[in-house]
Amino acid sequence: MVVLFGDCGEETHDRLGLKGASLCMMTRAGLPVPHGFVITTDVCREFFERGELPAEAFRQVGEKLGALEELTGLKFGGADRPLLLSVRAGASVLMPGMMDTILNLGLNDDAAAGLARTSNNPAFALDCHRRFIQNFGEVVFGIDRKLFARILEGVKKEAGVESEHRLDEKNRRKLVQLNAKLVRRQSGGQPPDDPMEQLRLAVHAVFRSWESPRAVTYRNLYRIPHHLGTAVTVQAMVFGNLGDDSAAGLVTTRDPTTGEKRLFGEYLVNAQGDDVLSGVRTPRRIRNFKNDFPDLHQTFIESCEALERRCRDMQEIEFTIERGKLYFLQSRESNRTAAAAVRIAVEMVKEGLIPREEAMLRIRPDTLDQILHRYIDPEVQARSIARGVPSSPGAASGRVVFDQEGAERARQTGEDAILVRNETTTEDVRGLALAQGVLTARGGKTSHAAVVVRGMGKPCITGCEALNVNTNNRTVVIGELVVREDDLITIDGSTGRVFLGAIPLRKAVVSPEFRELLSWADEIRTLRVRANVDTPEDAARAVAFGAEGVGLCRTEQMFMTADRLPTVRSMIMAEKDAERERHLNALQKMHMQDFLEIFETMLERPVTFRLLDPPLHEFLPPLDSVLMEAAVMRSQGIAGEELEKQEIFARKVMSLKEANPMLGLRGCRLGILNPEITRMQVTAIFEAACAMARRGVAVRPEIMIPFVGHVNEVKRARAVIVEVADYVMRKHGASVAYAVGVLIEVPRAALTADEIAPEVDFFSFGTNDLTQNTFGMSRDDAESKFLYFYLDQGILEDNPFDAFDEKGVGRLIGIAVDIGRRVNGGLVIGLCGEHAADFKTVLQCHKLGMDYVSCSIFRLPAARLSAARAKLLSDRDGTPPPSTKHTETP
Ligand code: PEP
Ligand code: MG
Repeated sequence: MVVLFGDCGEETHDRLGLKGASLCMMTRAGLPVPHGFVITTDVCREFFERGELPAEAFRQVGEKLGALEELTGLKFGGADRPLLLSVRAGASVLMPGMMDTILNLGLNDDAAAGLARTSNNPAFALDCHRRFIQNFGEVVFGIDRKLFARILEGVKKEAGVESEHRLDEKNRRKLVQLNAKLVRRQSGGQPPDDPMEQLRLAVHAVFRSWESPRAVTYRNLYRIPHHLGTAVTVQAMVFGNLGDDSAAGLVTTRDPTTGEKRLFGEYLVNAQGDDVLSGVRTPRRIRNFKNDFPDLHQTFIESCEALERRCRDMQEIEFTIERGKLYFLQSRESNRTAAAAVRIAVEMVKEGLIPREEAMLRIRPDTLDQILHRYIDPEVQARSIARGVPSSPGAASGRVVFDQEGAERARQTGEDAILVRNETTTEDVRGLALAQGVLTARGGKTSHAAVVVRGMGKPCITGCEALNVNTNNRTVVIGELVVREDDLITIDGSTGRVFLGAIPLRKAVVSPEFRELLSWADEIRTLRVRANVDTPEDAARAVAFGAEGVGLCRTEQMFMTADRLPTVRSMIMAEKDAERERHLNALQKMHMQDFLEIFETMLERPVTFRLLDPPLHEFLPPLDSVLMEAAVMRSQGIAGEELEKQEIFARKVMSLKEANPMLGLRGCRLGILNPEITRMQVTAIFEAACAMARRGVAVRPEIMIPFVGHVNEVKRARAVIVEVADYVMRKHGASVAYAVGVLIEVPRAALTADEIAPEVDFFSFGTNDLTQNTFGMSRDDAESKFLYFYLDQGILEDNPFDAFDEKGVGRLIGIAVDIGRRVNGGLVIGLCGEHAADFKTVLQCHKLGMDYVSCSIFRLPAARLSAARAKLLSDRDGTPPPSTKHTETP
């Protein structure tokens, strides 16, 4: 139940807690650690079951205390050389600052007098005593901290001093007495003079702090099981504030920002550990340590190195020097930036500390995004003014602009701009392209701004509901704060936080270690990784980031530019077939040029072109603004042809309006009703492919039919594709190996995959729409209306649009893969929704024996690493490898 630091074997932190386990480990390693013992988590669980500390546990505490007195040569509660204790909670999972600690336990009037003598410092002894009474009163009796603060203020005022340090002995003694009186009054007792009773009450209170509201909230937030309980470490106090030969500090064994191998940290002479953290005095850099403590320097360095070697990871080490003697108080894995994590893991492989596999398993793939984008300098402390949905990673600072004119103005003056809007539409594309970052009050991760800006690799925050954007008077109101056009703001699209002013940013650096880690991942992974690419420029970037093909080219994105939209609009508006034909031809030319350039970059890698997906009205301006414009024209007396044109336009927009566009005329339905659009797109693909074939490059186009639900839709669409492909190839006398497949985004397609599979060469899962359709919720509506309530209430554990829903969506995918492959063993299967780079999704794809995942460009490194980790973990837990090894050649 109770273990001396020196007596425990290789026990896990489950019983000892992280703090206890670290102290035991350091003691075993022969490092100077103040003596102490751990009361295990077993005792905590029993404490909560019975409502009191088991008698046997307390007997063992007494026994270990005897051992502690022997080891230290001090006496608990002794008037001569008193042993003082720290009593700290320490769970087996990190819960920083969530539970309680009592310091200087064992003090009473006699022991305080003893401490004054042995330390030769009465002021120090009185200060310890005063702090102990307050600490004990707060933790054991729940006395409000403000009451103690009031007493302190009163005494300082009476003594006429500003700072507590300037109080003389008489006043310090008075403080002790007043604090003791307060505790007596508030608790119906006072800190007992009997140190054993102090210890019993302290252990009770520290155990109880496991159930404190903030600890419970923290566990709920981080899904830490409530039954674990906490351990309690009881340790002899050491003091870093006994003079200039004493100090306290905190070091890490490598630089936590860059990962460089050098001791990094700070300390304060004549201070306690808390003073270093609180920042009341400016600490000294660790490079001064050699000067200040020449006798300790060598041991200190060697001990830190030994700790890192033993733990096989970068450590954060807390130390105290008491009158020239060095003590280690804690050693734990240190936090680090993503860039540092990569460098440290790769260098540790080279130093022979860890194998490559472990390096890959140590890096969380989602943190790699950080490395590829500018990020907020981690050394800067800044408070955000609002928080929204982190929709595209990276950070940017710039002047607030509300439209593309504002963004244009900023560009002309050479300044960066952040486009702030309620939401964005296709009208805003130029503004989006000009701004360095985008912030919207509404929307989610798949709203227009998010998808477009993510594709551009720039930061974006959507759904920032605290914003009240008023484009008329050019302000954004956030609570009491008014931000005006041209004010500077910073957005962090990785966390969703918005800051006032220009916060210092750090540049993305793709280090040699980053490349090396990914090359290890590529060697080991079996799942292929493709990119979602909409433009030729994106294709080149995708190859640079290691894409093995294009898994999704959203062809409609190619028309969402200011210069092309008018042609699409004219095509939609055309009354006569010939006119429509003319516009379709123009679009075909644009497509063909883009496709050709994509092929020139991707060469023999597969490229999946998705046929036009969204409803046609998405290419048109919002109905409200079209109607408004017609009304304005009328009110201004404009009539005749001009007004008629606007009214025809309004009627067309109205005729395309749907009650529920998410489930309306979109995906393959659009091409089935308007086969000329499919013909135009497929012609462009094969014209480009044949041109490449003539140059001797065997490109591999794959045509993907979106949003199918029924096999007959597939048959129809496929017939058009095959007919056009044959025609174009025959025309050029060329032969191009191509594939036709479906994007599975509708549950019915997954459930009838065995009917669809014989008709196609590949399946790709579109988890964005598949999630929406499986849950029956549109993402934008869910995120703006009820999803966060669901998450708060625990109705849903995760946002299924961020975290892949294994139980529902995953099950549909599992069924589709299984029944699809049964009837078509050569089926190539991929996944191209936003979830594609997430580890949970990648793991399932790997386990199902799928062929590839396809994600946005900046997520490629995360996908490559996730695929390697999936392979490593599946091999480790004995999941059999996929039954058939599918190649990607149709
Ligand atoms: C999907 O739905 O997952 C998909 C890839 O299509 P989009 O995101 O374009 O709707
Ligand atoms: Mg979709």
